[in-house]
Amino acid sequence: MEGKLLELCRRENVLINEPMKNHTTFGCGGAAKAVVFPENRQELVALVKLLKDDMVILGNGSNVLVCDEGLEKYAVITLKVKEVKCEGDSIYADCGVSLAKLSSVAAENSLAGLEFASGIPGTVAGGIFMNAGAYGGEIKDVISEVYAVDKDGNEKIFSKEELKLSYRHSVFCENGYIITGAKFNLEKGNKEVIYATMKDLNQRRKDKQPLEYKSAGSTFKRPEGYFAGQLIEESGLKGYSVGDAQVSEKHAGFVINKGDAKASDVLAVIDHCKKTVAEKFGVNLEPEIKILSND
Ligand SMILES: Cc1cc2nc3c(=O)[nH]c(=O)nc-3n(C[C@H](O)[C@H](O)[C@H](O)COP(=O)(O)OP(=O)(O)OC[C@H]3O[C@@H](n4cnc5c(N)ncnc54)[C@H](O)[C@@H]3O)c2cc1C
Repeated sequence: MEGKLLELCRRENVLINEPMKNHTTFGCGGAAKAVVFPENRQELVALVKLLKDDMVILGNGSNVLVCDEGLEKYAVITLKVKEVKCEGDSIYADCGVSLAKLSSVAAENSLAGLEFASGIPGTVAGGIFMNAGAYGGEIKDVISEVYAVDKDGNEKIFSKEELKLSYRHSVFCENGYIITGAKFNLEKGNKEVIYATMKDLNQRRKDKQPLEYKSAGSTFKRPEGYFAGQLIEESGLKGYSVGDAQVSEKHAGFVINKGDAKASDVLAVIDHCKKTVAEKFGVNLEPEIKILSND
C-alpha cells in the first residue's frame, strides 16, 4: 500500500507509522499506519478511492482523542487542501481551509456571519461534521451547500436541508461521506464592525479558556438545561488529574494535557467526571470529542 500512496502523493506528504500525537491538538495517541496529506481535492478523492474503509479522515484533529494503541488505518489529513474563493456574497472553501482563514476571508470582503468561527481551531470540514458553534453562531446559520464523495469517489452535493445540522451533529456523523468543500452564504456587513466582533470574541476565549494547554476544547456536550463545566466545577473536580491529564483549573469544561498525557489518562479523567456528575446531579455527560480507537 505504501508504494501506491507514493504514486499518488509526494514523498514528504506520506509519513509512515507516524504518531497521531503530532497531529491532534490533544497531543495524545499512538501511530497510524501512515499519515497522508493530499495537496488538493483530486488527490484527496484518489486517496479515498484507494483506501476506502482503511482510512480515517481528519482536519486539524482539534476534536478527537486518538487512543494510545494508535490506529490500524491510514490517517488522511486535509490541511493542505485549502483553496478558498469569494464569489459575491458567497465563499467557496475546500475542506481543509481553517475556520480562522475562512472568517478572515469573509471579513476582508465585508461579509458578516462567520465572526463566531474565527477562534475555533478546526477546518471547514471538521466544522461542518460537528456543526461547530460558539457565541450564539453555528455553521448551520451560514452553510449553503456541501460537496462530498462516498468511498467509491462518487460525488454528491448536499443541500442545507440534507445536512441535518443540529447541536454538534451533521448527516456526516452517520453516512461516511468525505467532505471535499463547501459553499457559505453570508451577508454584507461593515468591515470594521466584523473585525471588532472577531477581536472581542477571541479575547473572551483567551480570558475564559485554557488556550495555553493542549486540549480538544469542550470535552462534553452541553446537557439539556445545564452547562457541563458548571456541573464538573460544582462536583469539586477542578484540577482533578490522572497523569498529565487534568480538569482545567481555568474552565472545568476542558480536560487539558499538561505535558505528556496518555489517551488513557484523558479517558480516566473523563470517566471520573461522568461518574461523579451522574452521582451528584443525576445528569449523564456525553463526550463531545470523538474518541478514535481500533474497536
Ligand atoms: C481550544 C479549542 C477551542 C475549541 N472551541 C470550539 C468552539 O468554540 N466551538 C466548537 O464547536 N468547537 C470547538 N472546538 C472543537 C473543534 O475545534 C471543532 O469541533 C472543529 O470543528 C473540529 O474541526 P477539525 O478540522 O479539527 O476536525 P477533526 O478534529 O480533525 O475531526 C472532527 C471530526 O470530523 C471528521 N472530519 C474531519 N474532516 C472531514 C472530512 N473532510 N470529511 C468528513 N469528515 C471529516 C473527523 O473524522 C472527525 O470525526 C475547540 C477545540 C479546541 C482545541
